[in-house]
Amino acid sequence: MANGMENDPESFKVKIASTGDSFDVPAGKSILHVLIENGYRIKSDCSNGRCGTCKTRYLEGQPDHKDTALSPEERGDYLTVCVSRSKGAEIVLDLPPPQKSLGAYVPDGPVAVVEAAICVACLTCVRACTYGAATIDGDVTGVGGIMGAAVIDVMTCTGCGLCAAACPTGAIGMTKFTDSEVISLVDGFFPTAGKPDKSNGLDPEIVAFCCSNSAPAVAEFKGDIDLKIVDMPCTGRVDNLFLMKAFEDGADGVVVVGCEPGQCYYSAGNINAEKRVRRMRNWLEGVGLDADRVRMVHLPDDGAGPFKQAAQELAAEIRGLGPNPLRLPIESRPHHAAKQEVRE
Ligand code: SF4
Ligand code: SF4
Repeated sequence: MANGMENDPESFKVKIASTGDSFDVPAGKSILHVLIENGYRIKSDCSNGRCGTCKTRYLEGQPDHKDTALSPEERGDYLTVCVSRSKGAEIVLDLPPPQKSLGAYVPDGPVAVVEAAICVACLTCVRACTYGAATIDGDVTGVGGIMGAAVIDVMTCTGCGLCAAACPTGAIGMTKFTDSEVISLVDGFFPTAGKPDKSNGLDPEIVAFCCSNSAPAVAEFKGDIDLKIVDMPCTGRVDNLFLMKAFEDGADGVVVVGCEPGQCYYSAGNINAEKRVRRMRNWLEGVGLDADRVRMVHLPDDGAGPFKQAAQELAAEIRGLGPNPLRLPIESRPHHAAKQEVRE
């Protein structure tokens, strides 16, 4: 194989007989997750091999059954795609082509997916989800084999990503706008990340995480700022991990742009994002990167005015602060100089 998975004993391919589509199923990702990512919709419930809702007929290959739902007879023809895997390099499934015409039953957009094995049933996602799509199922095995883990009703899930950004254990992933997709996008803005550059802070590089409502207005911004836009479904999906990654890569500033309070398409994504930005400011202060390098901006429906003002203020602030210290050679960073003083 040329895809780099040859050293991974848990990875395999899943092929769909009706379309000939073939997808890699890497370690740590379920067949169900991979199928949803690629537009196939399968009814599922517990995500833990207990209910059997997602049982799917296989035509070739040898499943590694990991569920407790199917009888020995059923296992001759079916596997549960939420937990079961393949013993061989490939398994072929008997699924219809992706259906685009089933309306709300088949969400085209992203949906949340729980890795029950690392869910601690903390209720954070249940509280965060304003649609009631996240619940705790006492019959699902969570972390350490303890009963109780979150499940997502994919028919109700709007894909706002609020739960994924809020989950303290990283148990929730999204089928689109995945963590790795967003991080790759941010990495792409900073091809020289990790290598000291000659930035003097006079030309600040600012990453703007925008909800899909705000992104068009922000894209129209014309100014003397190097603005790098990440278009997200909702600011509720903006995980602190993404903000930290932007700073680690070398962004001089980060701005999160969402709708005004009460105007969020997903109900409260912008409010949660604002709380997260506040926590981020404390964290930045704590690590000596200056809280003023990050801020949240709420845009009204009818214009980018507040963004222009906030972006100019942020740029002016950054010019005063200087470049992100992580862009500087290590011996020039403020904390290094302080350390030297203590030693002397
Ligand atoms: S927030 Fe994460 S750990 Fe907590 S219940 Fe939801 S999925 Fe589980
Ligand atoms: S993605 Fe949004 S709608 Fe779906 S479960 Fe998470 S919080 Fe609820």
